[in-house]
Amino acid sequence: MTEIVYATGMRTRFRGITVREGMLLEGAAGWGEFSPFWDYDGPTSLPWLRAAMEAADVGWPDPVRDLVPVNCTVPAVGPGRAAEIVRASGGCTTAKVKVAERGQRLADDLARVEAVRDAIGRDGRVRIDVNGAWTVDQAVEAVRAMRSFDLEYVEQPCATVEELAEVRRRIDVPVAADESIRRADDPLRVVALDAADIAVLKVQPLGGVRACLRIADQIGLPVVVSSALESSVGIAAGVALAAALPELPYACGLATVSMLEQDVVDEPLLPIDGMLPVRRPAPGAGLARADVITRARWEQRLAAVRALIGQDRVS
Ligand SMILES: [Mg+2]
Repeated sequence: MTEIVYATGMRTRFRGITVREGMLLEGAAGWGEFSPFWDYDGPTSLPWLRAAMEAADVGWPDPVRDLVPVNCTVPAVGPGRAAEIVRASGGCTTAKVKVAERGQRLADDLARVEAVRDAIGRDGRVRIDVNGAWTVDQAVEAVRAMRSFDLEYVEQPCATVEELAEVRRRIDVPVAADESIRRADDPLRVVALDAADIAVLKVQPLGGVRACLRIADQIGLPVVVSSALESSVGIAAGVALAAALPELPYACGLATVSMLEQDVVDEPLLPIDGMLPVRRPAPGAGLARADVITRARWEQRLAAVRALIGQDRVS
C-alpha cells in the first residue's frame, strides 16, 4: 500500500490549528485519508483509520445524485473578512458561521452573523456553529439576539445532550447535533431525548461512509455531512456519503478545502455554483508533502492505530 504524508498551512486558524497534516493511503479501490487531529488518542483515531481503509480497499456505495450542495464556512473572523469569505465562496447560498470563540463576546458574534446575512442576501441561508460553548441560558439569549438574521439552525449550542434538549424546547430555531453524535458513546441518545432536529455526520470520526449511512438510517433525522478539514482526498469520502444518502435537504459542510493553503490533488474539490461534483481526485504533482520528521511521526501513528484493529472487536 502506498502511503503519503501531507502538511499544509491553514489560511485562518481553525479549531486551534494553523497546520493541517494527514496521511493518504492507496489501496485497490483508490486513495483514502487518515488525518485524526494530534490531540486524539489511539482508540479515538481508530474510526478515522477504518474510514481511510474503506476508501482505499473497498470504495463507497453508488451515488444517488451527481452534485452535492455545500455551505461556505466562516471562522471567528471580523465582519469585513466574514463578508469577503461569503463573496469568494464559489456561489454558496448557505453559510455556516462559527460563534462563541474563546476570548470574544456576543457582540462579536452578532456583528459577524449580521455581515454574513448582508453578504449572502435575504434568500441565502445562515446557520451558526457553537461547538458546545454556550450554557442553556446563553444559547437562548444569543439565538434571541440573532432573531432578525433568520437562522437556518444552530449547531451544537451546548455541550451535553440534556442541554441541547432544553435549548431546543426554549427556542424556535432548529437545533443540529454534531459533537453529541460523533463524540458520544451512543449517537442515538439525541433521538431518545428529543435533543435535535438535524444530525451532523462526519465520515472519518464515525468510521466510514457505510457506518455513517447506518447511523443516518437509525437516527431518522435529516443529515448534514461535514468535513474534518481534510484534503480533497478526504473530502471525496464526505461527498460520497452526501451523494448516497436517500434525502439531502440541507447544504453540506464540505467546502473546506479553501481553508487550506495547499491541497494534495491537481483539481481540488471546490464548489462551483455552490455545488461539489461527485468524483474521486487522486494525489497530484502539486502535493503538499510533509517533511521527513512529520512523515516519521505519522508512520508511527499509523502503526499504533493499526495495531488496535481487531482488539476492539474482541473487547
Ligand atoms: Mg460542528
